[in-house]
Amino acid sequence: MFDSVKNLKKIQTDFDKYQNNFFTKRNPEFFCLELNGEAGELANLEKKLWKGKDIDFDLVADEAADVFIALMNYCNSRELDLAKSVNLKLIKIETKRLDLKSKCEEY
Ligand SMILES: [Mg+2]
Repeated sequence: MFDSVKNLKKIQTDFDKYQNNFFTKRNPEFFCLELNGEAGELANLEKKLWKGKDIDFDLVADEAADVFIALMNYCNSRELDLAKSVNLKLIKIETKRLDLKSKCEEY
């Protein structure tokens, strides 16, 4: 497993415990909508930054945290092992990158 995702399983498990202990149980569809809503809030701040508006970066960080938390809740409600999925995806990306690199070096 990639070193960068080794702790993700524990983080996801901890979020699941926290959510189950202190908040109302929700279905995956709720968390998927929440995730997209939070991503939209983050995108809206980026749009304002792109237009040159003065945006407090603490707000951007706060929205990024919302996106992360919503992703944890979504994956837990769908019983997805995000660490496993990210690891598999990184293997695919790295395989493709190395393949492309070797093809470039042939020419
Ligand atoms: Mg938010």
